[in-house]
Amino acid sequence: MKIANLDGRAALITGGGATDVAAASDGRFGPDPQSLFDHWSAFTEWASTVELPDAAASAAIDVEGLGAPVPRPRQVFAIGLNYAEHAAEAGYPPNSMPVTFTKFPSCIVGADTIVELPEGNVDWEVELVVVIGREARNLDRESAWDHVAGLTIGQDLSERITQLQGSAPQFSLGKSFPGFGPTGPWLVTPDEFAHRDDLALSCSLSGERMQSSRTSMMLYDVPELLVRLSAVCLLLPGDIIFSGTPSGIGNRRTPQRFIGADDVLVSEIEGIGTLTTRFTASI
Ligand code: ZN
Repeated sequence: MKIANLDGRAALITGGGATDVAAASDGRFGPDPQSLFDHWSAFTEWASTVELPDAAASAAIDVEGLGAPVPRPRQVFAIGLNYAEHAAEAGYPPNSMPVTFTKFPSCIVGADTIVELPEGNVDWEVELVVVIGREARNLDRESAWDHVAGLTIGQDLSERITQLQGSAPQFSLGKSFPGFGPTGPWLVTPDEFAHRDDLALSCSLSGERMQSSRTSMMLYDVPELLVRLSAVCLLLPGDIIFSGTPSGIGNRRTPQRFIGADDVLVSEIEGIGTLTTRFTASI
C-alpha cells in the first residue's frame, strides 16, 4: 500500500488516483498524515480491508500538493558513511559504528519543493528513508522489519561549508537549512517490495546522473540500523531514518559541483518512485 500526504491530508494511492483516508474511514483515521502513526497497526488493518475505488473513480493526484509523508517526525535519525564507496570518497575508513546525526525536523519537506539555496556549497545525497511504525527498543535483526511502517525517498541536502567547519564537523546543522530534507513522493509499506533489502537508488541533477547504487550495498542494512539505534534510543512511531548515501556527491567530484539556482534534482528508488526537488537563489 502507498500512503501520501496530499494537501496536508492522508491519502491512499490507488493506481493513478488518491482516496482521502478520513473520508473513506468516516473520520476514524486521519486527516493529519502524522496521526496515522499513532494507530499504525489498526490503520493498516483497516486499509487492507477497505474497498477502494479503482484508479478511474478516485481523485487524480495533484503532484504539487504532495507533502512530506511524515510531516512532523519526533525524531529524525540520519546515517553517514553507510556505503563503502562513499566512505572512501569522503576520506573516511570503514567505521565500526554507524555514524549517526540528526536533521532537525523543521527541514523536512515533501515532493516538488522549491528549496531556497543558502550561501555556500549545497550538495545532494539520495537516501532510502525508513519510517518507524511501532515503538521499539533493543530490537533484534529478526523482528526489526516488523517495526517499519514503510519506505520513502529522501534527499539529505547538505551545505558543506557549515557541515565541515570547526575542529569537529557540524553534520546536523549543515544538513538542516529550511527545505534540506525533501521526502516522498509517498510512503510504501514493506510488503510491496519483492526484495526490500536490495533496491536500486539513484539521482540526477538537471539531467546528469550523479549517483547510482543499490541499498544492498549498505555497510549497515536496515535491520542492523534498527538494532544499533534502538540499543540506545527509544524509536517512536513516525520517526524517520535517512539511511545514508552512495558515492557520487558533488563535494568529492573533480571539479567539485554544487547545486545552483534553477537546478532540478530527481531522486529515484526502485518500487517507490521519483522525488523531484527544485532550487532558487536566496533572496
Ligand atoms: Zn546523508
